[in-house]
Amino acid sequence: KSRYTSKFDCKKYLGGGAFGRVYKVREILLNKKFAVKIVRVKKKISRKDLREVKALSVLLHTNIVRYYSCWTEDTGYMQSSSADSCSSQESSPQLLYIQMELCGSKTLGHWIKERNTRTLPDSSRRQESLTIAKQIVSGVEYIHFKKLIHRDLKPANILFGQDGAVKIGDFGLVTADDEDDENPRERTNETGTMLYMAPEQFENIYDRKVDIFAFGLIYFELLWKVSTGHERAEVLRDARNQKFPREFPLTLPQEEQIMRSMLCNEPKQRPEASALNAELEKLAHTLNPEKTEN
Ligand code: ATP
Ligand code: MG
Ligand code: MG
Repeated sequence: KSRYTSKFDCKKYLGGGAFGRVYKVREILLNKKFAVKIVRVKKKISRKDLREVKALSVLLHTNIVRYYSCWTEDTGYMQSSSADSCSSQESSPQLLYIQMELCGSKTLGHWIKERNTRTLPDSSRRQESLTIAKQIVSGVEYIHFKKLIHRDLKPANILFGQDGAVKIGDFGLVTADDEDDENPRERTNETGTMLYMAPEQFENIYDRKVDIFAFGLIYFELLWKVSTGHERAEVLRDARNQKFPREFPLTLPQEEQIMRSMLCNEPKQRPEASALNAELEKLAHTLNPEKTEN
């Protein structure tokens, strides 16, 4: 008997990728909507299978998708013969369900695409982008404070809550930042999206600063309009090497400076999320001096 089908009414498919599928559901008893992510895992569940939900369960922050509960269920369609039942004990799949807060259906990726119809960033785009950037940084600061590295920050993994607040999601690649500051650890290679990956992430020796690099590119995308997917890839590839469009430093000098620090090749020279938070706060005051806090 499935907990999922007995407790939830599946409303629609929201998205998914290499690792899981996410559905909008209604909790029948409470008549309340949630998102449920369903991930296929081995019968003998591994630490790696559980790290996404483990991380989510310790993270409680306005700018991180809220976690509610998790459970596993057998898939049932592995009707193995008794002869190899021993080995199938190990390998027959089950499903891991992760119940979370339901966010809006538009990701930050959609947000960026929609706004790409305008030309040069005007002051309202600048403000809007900063408002979003500040929330992402708050979430990242908290993740790092909890000694975790997200490792897969990209616009498609950033959502908006029902209240409109930015929510970092998809902790599928999260890992412990259990290092002393001096020696970034050697890690196994699990690729996120290459476009947002810090250079050292390809070498498998890195720390939390990979999140800062990815955020630098996201902030750039929040600000800079491109007209095609091809142009986007090109502009981002240049930005990875701190090569920005010519007009960029002219129209957005403060942002350019902050971005350069985040996209530094040397991870140690990239700012910590906490320093960045203060930096963006200062910028907010410069852009809008008469407006008081919040
Ligand atoms: P990928 O392999 O691309 O990283 P994934 O399988 O790891 O995907 P997620 O990124 O967690 O899965 O979710 C996939 C998509 O589902 C998201 O891009 C988003 O559109 C949607 N989604 C995820 N979580 C939620 C949520 N809590 N509320 C609403 N939509 C969500
Ligand atoms: Mg994802
Ligand atoms: Mg993922």
